Amino acid sequence: MACVSFPYDAPVSQTLFDRASLVTPGGVNSPVRAFRAVGGTPRFMVSGTGPYLTDADGREYVDLVCSWGPMILGHSHPEVIAAVQEAVARGTSFGTPGEGEVALAEEIVARIEPVEQVRLVSSGTEATMSAIRLARGFTGRAKVVKFAGCYHGHVDALLAAAGSGVATFGLPDTPGVTGAQAGDTIVLPYNDLEAVRTAFAAHPGEIACVITEASPGNMGVVPPLDGFNAGLKEICAADGALYISDEVMTGFRTSKAGWFGVDGVRPDLMTFGKVMGGGFPAAAFGGRADVMAHLAPVGPVYQAGTLSGNPVATAAGLAQLRLLDDAAYAKVDAVSAEIRALVGEAFTKEGVAHTVSAASNMFSVFFMDQPVRNYEDAKKQEAFRFTAFFHSMLAQGVYLPPSAFESWFVSTTHDTQAVERIAAALPAAARAASEATA
Ligand code: PLP
Repeated sequence: MACVSFPYDAPVSQTLFDRASLVTPGGVNSPVRAFRAVGGTPRFMVSGTGPYLTDADGREYVDLVCSWGPMILGHSHPEVIAAVQEAVARGTSFGTPGEGEVALAEEIVARIEPVEQVRLVSSGTEATMSAIRLARGFTGRAKVVKFAGCYHGHVDALLAAAGSGVATFGLPDTPGVTGAQAGDTIVLPYNDLEAVRTAFAAHPGEIACVITEASPGNMGVVPPLDGFNAGLKEICAADGALYISDEVMTGFRTSKAGWFGVDGVRPDLMTFGKVMGGGFPAAAFGGRADVMAHLAPVGPVYQAGTLSGNPVATAAGLAQLRLLDDAAYAKVDAVSAEIRALVGEAFTKEGVAHTVSAASNMFSVFFMDQPVRNYEDAKKQEAFRFTAFFHSMLAQGVYLPPSAFESWFVSTTHDTQAVERIAAALPAAARAASEATA
């Protein structure tokens, strides 16, 4: 069995991080990359192949982040790279319609039955922002219901998020978001249909939409309880509000048709990103044709983007989606189950209270032995144990998300050798978690 270990300093990453910190806030272009939740120096990666990443110090890691979801075929998949090279040789952006974006839209519509029409954008944030605007434009209503612990990108109105009592009243969680921007946002506890009914009863005819992660992965993995999504759909339909399922993370990952393929609840609008871009900035929102018909240039709700449907990004996304057949999902599901079992065994052996929580092939570990139904539950875990676990895994060549509140991701390329490396690292990491103190 392969056992990778190496000295735990990262001098080249440290130098790059020092340089980066001078010219970029916190040294990173997206906060969670900064290791602030776990401490230490973020690893600057220089290349990726299959399930492995190589950092600037020349060290190789088994990657359990997969670029936060997109790299479901592993890094540098030859057919995706070939499609990108072919596209890029023809030019990188035209600012006109092109066949690639039609083909990608057709692929999405063919896979996900509730999506009758789709508009391409460049990020998940843009997709959710646009879907909310469209829901408001379509219904003529202002209020939006979201759930604590669900992340929908950094849309102003959706950053009224979690954690504090004030969030319940739609006050912003971040400076820079005004009360006016967040004031129409109603934040409710996840998996609590009674709270949703109460909110609708308090605001009849005022709620434009409920937006929810199809199966949340941004407070750790917390799947919807049986009937929760169906209940949301029913409550929305009864009041004339739209049900928006955010599948930026789950879309094309949890099955061929994302989480819709798992629970079959039919949203009015859906949002996508990550996997559909093949590692490039491509995202989308779509759904009912009568709702989508309210978008410009057909309808009055404005939405646009210079790089929307970019030919290189759509080529990458299309190549990736076309490779994602039933066999690919079976492979990802199987390796996810295998790793989950290994992780559970390692913690059990060391007497560490834990719950391995999974939604299809997405999973994460909560350091507690109670079921986790919402963000309040998730926050009760002993997150300090994750820090020790994370650093031990990192030192042994396994790259985990640097936070206890994020999903782990695997790919079709996580083979026996990659799993053996994870298995070899787990005993010491589980021991480190068991010995950790708050
Ligand atoms: N929605 C969900 C469920 C996400 O997980 C994310 C990002 O992680 C987003 C939206 C935002 O996507 P992006 O980071 O591409 O803006």
